[in-house]
Amino acid sequence: MHKGSCLCGKIKFEVAGEIPPMHACHCSICRKASGHYGVGADVSREALKINGEENIKWFQTSEWARRGFCANCGTPLFFDPIDNKKIGWIGVSMGAFDKPTCTKMTMHIFTQDKGDYYEIVDGLPQHEQAPK
Ligand SMILES: [Zn+2]
Repeated sequence: MHKGSCLCGKIKFEVAGEIPPMHACHCSICRKASGHYGVGADVSREALKINGEENIKWFQTSEWARRGFCANCGTPLFFDPIDNKKIGWIGVSMGAFDKPTCTKMTMHIFTQDKGDYYEIVDGLPQHEQAPK
């Protein structure tokens, strides 16, 4: 069981079981939506319990996904594929989890779109777009 929340605490969530390993996404949508680059764990919809769901503001960021943030404090929290019933997972921002998360980032994707103000120096695999 892992817990997390937005900055103001109006939205709290729990994830049952382990948080799966995740990647960092440097695409321009993740960069703008997160404020730097996106790191979220894809957890099964059944494993995620949200308290304060009425405080989530959703914004559709592509044809197939919307992102949820706290309407009060602005914390980016969720990446939700539109056709979620078929897909079955939802992305949860790693920065919103309380420690310890007991998981690790495994790679960087969409590095061709990354910001020009930082270098990726952690030695993890890098993919210019999505990995094959
Ligand atoms: Zn909040």
